[in-house]
Amino acid sequence: MIMLNFYTILLQKIKPGFHYSCWFSAMLVTSVLNSAHANTLNIGPFEHDPVPGGIAIVNLGIATDTTPPTVTLGVRPVAVMENNKQWYAIVGVSLSTKAGKHQLAVHSGDTKMIIDFDIEDKQYEEQRIVIKDKRKVNPAPYDMERINKENVRIKEVKAYRYKELLSDKFQMPLEGILTSPFGLRRFFNDQPRRPHGGIDIAGDNGTPVYAPATGLVVETGDYFFNGNCIFLEHGLGLQSFYAHLSKIHVKPGDKVNAGDLIGEVGATGRVTGPHLHWSVGLNGTWVDPNLLLED
Ligand SMILES: [Zn+2]
Repeated sequence: MIMLNFYTILLQKIKPGFHYSCWFSAMLVTSVLNSAHANTLNIGPFEHDPVPGGIAIVNLGIATDTTPPTVTLGVRPVAVMENNKQWYAIVGVSLSTKAGKHQLAVHSGDTKMIIDFDIEDKQYEEQRIVIKDKRKVNPAPYDMERINKENVRIKEVKAYRYKELLSDKFQMPLEGILTSPFGLRRFFNDQPRRPHGGIDIAGDNGTPVYAPATGLVVETGDYFFNGNCIFLEHGLGLQSFYAHLSKIHVKPGDKVNAGDLIGEVGATGRVTGPHLHWSVGLNGTWVDPNLLLED
């Protein structure tokens, strides 16, 4: 159960003598009224599921101004959307987030406030994988040099934002059997590694991979773990990522629409066989792709 605890909102004066705007006073009233509906709230393509690896849709109050407030989670900017004359933060919740109370910093004009939101617990299954290429589990020092450079680039790509939302609900990028769900706690050759930040869809080498929604190609390349891969930005920091491809059919700067061919399934990078690894990102963190998919 999400409980948007608006009673714990802290209003901070940045300028001495500054008066709280109507925006905030109105917010306190409307938020209490709206919090009862928070559980079923979906906005745009986003589905509310406030768990690790999910999306928390957090009411920020009445939208009396046309300029949305600026919202950050830690240092990361968070998407803000208007719905029924209210502003909402659309927060991607990382898989490593602990259940409990978390805080958003909200700036509007000269005022800053902190809004609490709750994350519920969710347990994900464990998965053990045997990788024959031991270098892909314990990379050599010269591999680490390449991996570190790639990580710097991935961080830049994940920080990229297009100013407006381009996409609606996502379509599947590939029709195939789901072989590995989102969020699995993974062990490669019995060594713990990061949880599975996407879903794996089985497909033969060369099976077409399609854009799930309108987006911009931010990056393509051959990465150590991901193999040939593509990053798409769908606006406001909503991103999607395609790995282990045999072929890439787009280049950075291209605009793609839902259903456009972007690549082909392959077995490049750290894999046990050909498949598509598909991830969806929001504010630089991986979230469950099912929360964006059409029913
Ligand atoms: Zn995967």
